[in-house]
Amino acid sequence: MTIEHTTSEWHARAKALRYATGHFIDGEHVDALAKGRFTVTNPATLEPLCEVAAGTAADVDRAVAAGRRAFASGVWRRMAPRDRLGILSRYAQLIEKHAERFALLDTLCMGKPIRDMLAVDVPQAVQTFAYFAELCDKVDGAVTATAADAFHYILREPLGVVGCIVPWNYPLLMAAWKVAPALAAGNSVVLKPAEQSPLSGLLMAELFIEAGGPAGVFNVVNGLGEAAGAALALHADVNKIAFTGSTEIGKLMLTYAGKSNLKRVSLECGGKSPQIFLADLENLDRAVNYAINGIFGNMGEVCNAGSRLLIDKPIAPAFVERFVELGREAYRPGDPLDPQTNLGPLVTAGHRARVVSYIERGRSEGARVEFGGDVPALGGSYVNPTLFSGVDNRMTIAREEIFGPVAAAIEVDGLDEAIRVANDSIYGLAAAVWTQDLRSAHRAVRDLEAGVIWVNCFDHGDMTQPFGGYKQSGQGRDKCLESLLSYTQTKSAWIHLGD
Ligand code: NAD
Repeated sequence: MTIEHTTSEWHARAKALRYATGHFIDGEHVDALAKGRFTVTNPATLEPLCEVAAGTAADVDRAVAAGRRAFASGVWRRMAPRDRLGILSRYAQLIEKHAERFALLDTLCMGKPIRDMLAVDVPQAVQTFAYFAELCDKVDGAVTATAADAFHYILREPLGVVGCIVPWNYPLLMAAWKVAPALAAGNSVVLKPAEQSPLSGLLMAELFIEAGGPAGVFNVVNGLGEAAGAALALHADVNKIAFTGSTEIGKLMLTYAGKSNLKRVSLECGGKSPQIFLADLENLDRAVNYAINGIFGNMGEVCNAGSRLLIDKPIAPAFVERFVELGREAYRPGDPLDPQTNLGPLVTAGHRARVVSYIERGRSEGARVEFGGDVPALGGSYVNPTLFSGVDNRMTIAREEIFGPVAAAIEVDGLDEAIRVANDSIYGLAAAVWTQDLRSAHRAVRDLEAGVIWVNCFDHGDMTQPFGGYKQSGQGRDKCLESLLSYTQTKSAWIHLGD
């Protein structure tokens, strides 16, 4: 997706941008019932951007009630699937048409380079809606093999009202991964965007109505996690929570479900993804470039970021040397509205402080800073891309999710040790192996404990690929048909044909 503007044109467009800052309930932009507001700060300048409605349990009640009414009326779930398909396809086109607005909204809130919004987030969100739109009339029930005195069929039905709680690192795209399959399956949705990036969700919901979607089917409640998020996850009339965010809050979602109505919960949580580089890999520079992009892309604020580089002993010195040569200058912090910038600020000053404290921890535990390790003299919440070498997998920087542009290079002795170290983590979202040996590749695929394994690449995929974690990286899968089915439940109809 290309939209050509200069930096000053992007700034002018950002200044002229008009956007809603409330909730979106029952087809309308509304304010919070208690009138509370919270401030969103632009991380590139650390200046306030806007004040947004701070939702409380009362707002959540209102949105869930709207979703429930729409569901009960059948206006969406009983619509002919082909018609639902038509509306969601139009919706995908409308998101594409408004690419520039979406790109600006997320960039202003969370600092992502505008070029990444246009190259990744917006086109992939469009694809997500197009893919799930196409599945609307392709989900079948079944007739099972029974004895002659019975006829048994299985229906697939939507769940009801689905609460989607999403993070700030890909605000539009993470919302799309939840909202699109939930809507395609015929559910009503209440979306709770992250408080750092609350604006693009409102535009999404508004465009759903423009595409022909019925009011009340797609609602948005903004607010803080512990207020609006908790109220949604604890709500007794919500049938499922689809959550993407940290493992810590993911665990809370399970307790909320247990404390309320045993609602279903799907969790896409954190990661500490290993990339294994074996001595027989084909092309060192290609592998190193993937390693650089895998940890510095999106400021390292990526759930599947390749944050642990497990490098086979014979190539370890050359790998680190090349990473330093190619990686030191590959990502330069800059104004996210400059179309040349590939490294924006971290999402907030608080998050930067957290990342910096991990860097300090890496140093104090004995890892070596090859480059970076400091913050640039820019106004926003920036951190310089950082490579640590000499890392031991027991160090904090190898165990905890830093969620910043910080790579940890760990030397390993062959495939067996690499797999052991890779799996020595509470996380299991993604992993990669680089090798020319077919046996090593398949052994790694079989033995690595992660939901997604890449061989001789990193972060490749399309909508058919299930995306989700093993272990504490979560449960459930985004994208793919399996995701759509997770927003449905089966109903068995047993018909007695005998006397
Ligand atoms: P977070 O867990 O702090 O917040 C995620 C969402 O949960 C936000 O909307 C927040 O408002 C809400 N929330 C926070 N506290 C809550 C509470 N007590 N009750 C209910 N809701 C609450 O995560 P974050 O900092 O926004 O995002 C970063 C995390 O997301 C990282 O751990 C990252 O790995 C993860 N992530 C995972 C995936 C994936 O697909 N596995 C994708 C993107 C991000």
